[in-house]
Parts: sequence; structure tokens; C-alpha cells
Amino acid sequence: MAAIETLYQHYLKHPVICTDTRNITPGCLFFALKGDNFDANTFAEKALTNGAAYAIIDNLAYKTSKQCILVPDVLSTLQDLARHHRSQLNIPVVGLTGSNGKTTTKELINAVLSEKYKTFATKGNLNNHIGVPLSILSLTKDTEIAVIEMGANHQKEIEFLCTIAQPTHGLITNVGMAHLDGFGGFEGVKKGKAELYAHLKNSHGFAFINRNNPYLLEMSASAHLDKVIYYGTEATDAISGKLIKTDPLIEISWSNKTGTYQTSVNLTGSYNFENILAAVCIGAFFEVNPSAINKGLSGYFPNNNRSQITKTAHNTVICDFYNANPSSMAAALNNISLLTADKKTVIIGDMFELGPESAEQHDLIAKQAEQLSVETLVFIGKYFYALKDKYKGNYFSTPAEAQEFLKANPVKNNLILLKGSRGMALEQLLPLL
Ligand code: ATP
Ligand code: MG
Repeated sequence: MAAIETLYQHYLKHPVICTDTRNITPGCLFFALKGDNFDANTFAEKALTNGAAYAIIDNLAYKTSKQCILVPDVLSTLQDLARHHRSQLNIPVVGLTGSNGKTTTKELINAVLSEKYKTFATKGNLNNHIGVPLSILSLTKDTEIAVIEMGANHQKEIEFLCTIAQPTHGLITNVGMAHLDGFGGFEGVKKGKAELYAHLKNSHGFAFINRNNPYLLEMSASAHLDKVIYYGTEATDAISGKLIKTDPLIEISWSNKTGTYQTSVNLTGSYNFENILAAVCIGAFFEVNPSAINKGLSGYFPNNNRSQITKTAHNTVICDFYNANPSSMAAALNNISLLTADKKTVIIGDMFELGPESAEQHDLIAKQAEQLSVETLVFIGKYFYALKDKYKGNYFSTPAEAQEFLKANPVKNNLILLKGSRGMALEQLLPLL
């Protein structure tokens, strides 16, 4: 602990953390983390030359000056420092996890809360064992509320991230078919995500719960939560909402004790209704007034390829290629089936990290996709390719092959869904659409 205290004094003077020598902010603390293919201890000297105030290293061989601070393990030191910093800040932290919609919901919550407070929200998708400490170390004494996304693909990860972020308020967006491999199936997903509820129970924090989601109700009941705020479609909920329109963008109405309000949001997909309602619920809880809540929601424009509608030269594209898993894929297919368009095209790529359930989950999605009335149906990746003789469609094992197909068969005047796992990098098809 003494070591962390000393390091914390350095951090207070140099509150910017860098982990990449290519992006050094002068006067930062450089943490020499290890990656799969590199050991940043070897970059410590470069970081100092580039202007870092100190380099935190865990290999004595690279201690070339007094500015190199040797610690037993750089990653756990980063996590300990973040934990220590968090415990010095007496502010609400909203911790978010769930299988789908974390980043979108985080952005919406931030849009709403920032109407009234100085907020910090996780940048992008920095939601893991490195991203969460980096997020926490971005909080300053001016931050009034933080919104921290916590991702997980195995048990005990959320529990661990909670020790760092120490959320006082929490939200599980939903539980679905994501990271089945690491969690050990759907029951494992529920167990892993419920670690947030266990943390809230132990620390007397508040949970925001979607009353319409039976899994979340079951998980919260098992956790014996005492401070629960519900949102959903029932008038008895603290915030109750109604989806008015989704074609292509969303319009909702929502009610609390004082009245009923209506707003539009620049997102597509009825599945975003629950994400929006969560943001309303959290905004209302923190006493953001209804017109400011709606201003925050309607002023949010996604630019992160999640549920984003983009007009290209020839088509309208639902850019949802940031990521995919069976639940979000099913929701996206359902969404395009409900949207109005003369012609539709669906281009979907493999979903990763499904372990032994991969073949079955791809089969279910291909079956759902085949039933849609679309002009062109394209499947990309080895899991979908294995189904080429079972369901109709155009099958390619790689995006490069799909590119050739699209060059030879240009798609025009279509509403297109483009979605796949991150590793499929389907954005490479966008210039051809
Ligand atoms: P990641 O695990 O990559 O951090 P995430 O949980 O942060 O993902 P988002 O990035 O917000 O989720 O959304 C990813 C995709 O999940 C969206 O583009 C959309 O297709 C889908 N999605 C978003 N919200 C929901 C929801 N409530 N239910 C089902 N699918 C959703
Ligand atoms: Mg995310």
C-alpha cells in the first residue's frame, strides 16, 4: 500500500496515464503493460524521451533512470492505483454491464446526465480489466457523476471490475447469447452478470432494472437487492415508456409521476427502446428535468457503427457492424423486417466466441434470415459458409470474396443491414454500398 501511496502522489501531479509510446502526452505517467506480442518495458525509455514524467515498469533490466518506477506487476499496479483513486472520490458511479447495448446505453445515459452534471463516461468501449482502471483514472475532482461500462467474457470479471469502479448505482442492460464460450452457456452469462447485483447488495447501492426482462427480475430476486428502481412498460414503474415508432428512427413516450413526455432518438431498432428507457430512468433518478432528459436523448447522434443509419451514394445502410452475437443479430434481423423500404439487402458475418454452440447459433440465424423478404442475402465467414447448402443466400468464406460479389452485382436503392462480429471487419464492404 505504501508503494501505491507514493505512486498516487505522482499521479496527483501527473494525472494523465499513457500506455502507448505513440501517443505520449507530455508529463504523463507511462504504464508499461504487456500485450500478446510485446512487452512495453522495452518502450519505457522511449516513453520518457517522448515526454512521460515517469515510466512504471516491472522488469529491473529496463530501469535506466530515476524516472523509471519499478513495481511487481504493471497491470495490477494500474488496477490498484485506479481502485485507490476511486476510493478518494465521493461521487456516484453508475456501473453498466449486460450482453447487449452497454455502449449505446452508456452514451445515452451520459447524454442525459450531462444536461445537468459534469460527467465522465467510458470512452468508446474501454470496458475491460485495463479500460475500466483507465476510465477511473480519468475522473477528476470536478467530475460529479461517472458512467462506467464493464464488459466481461468470463466469471468473476464483473466482480473484479466492481472492486475498481466501486459503482454506487448499477444497470444490467440485459442477458443474452454472448460470450457463451467463456461464460459456460447462458446460465453462466446470468451468473457472471449478476456479480454486479451482488456488489450493489453488499455496498447498499441502487439497481435500475428493466421490469419487462424476466431474467433480470429472477437475478435481482436471487441477489436480494434492497434498493431497486424499475423501468418498463407498466404504469407502476418509476419510469414507464411506450415505443411509438421505429421506422427508421425511434420515437418514444415516457411517463413519471409528474407527466408524460415524448421524444425522438437518432437510433434504429426497437431493441434500443430498453436502452433509451434505462437512460430516462437514470436521468430522472438523478433529477434531470424531463425537458433536459429529452434534449439529451434527441441530441445524441451515434457515430460508432451501432444501430446507426448512414446514407451512402446509392443506399441507406444500417451500420451495425461494430459487433454481433446471436441475440443482437436476431434483434437486428427483426428490426429490418419491420422497416419500410422498397428493396432490402441483408449482409451478415460470422458471430465469434460461441464455443460449442457456434454451429447451432449460426444455423438459427441463417434460418431467420432466409425467412426475410429481401432482395439480396449475403452470408460471410466460415460458420455461415458451412450452411450454404441448407439455406438460400449468397455465401462467402471471407469479406474479400463478398467484395468481389458486390463489385459484380452492385446493390442500389436498397435499405441494407450490415452486421457481423468485430473480427469480421465488415466496414470494408461499406465503400461498395
Ligand atoms: P460490446 O460487448 O461490444 O461492448 P455493447 O454491449 O457495448 O457491446 P453496443 O455496442 O451498445 O453493445 O451495441 C452492439 C450491438 O448490439 C448494437 O449494434 C445492436 O445491434 C445490439 N443491441 C444494442 N442494444 C441492444 C439490446 N438492448 N438488445 C439486443 N441487441 C442490442
Ligand atoms: Mg461496448
